[in-house]
Amino acid sequence: MSYVYLLHFSKPITPGRPAQHYLGWASDLDDRIRKHRNGKGSRLCQVAKERGISFELAEVWKGDRALERKLKQNKNSPKICPICYHNKPNRK
Ligand SMILES: [Zn+2]
Repeated sequence: MSYVYLLHFSKPITPGRPAQHYLGWASDLDDRIRKHRNGKGSRLCQVAKERGISFELAEVWKGDRALERKLKQNKNSPKICPICYHNKPNRK
């Protein structure tokens, strides 16, 4: 079993850029999230940790690299992130 997961960062990691998400693929999700929280496993998570930016696990899908690739094409779309979706200002 493998998982595709979406991390939602509390703030944009690069100022002036909307990149607020990290999409990844893992077979041991708990282990991977633990590593990300320690700033390991991806450059983005390392930078986020250095800057004191936290993240939440926004969504998890059962799937493999093919799904990861597909989701990566619109990873910054609020539609795939429940946290962004619920935070939309014009939504009750
Ligand atoms: Zn989001």
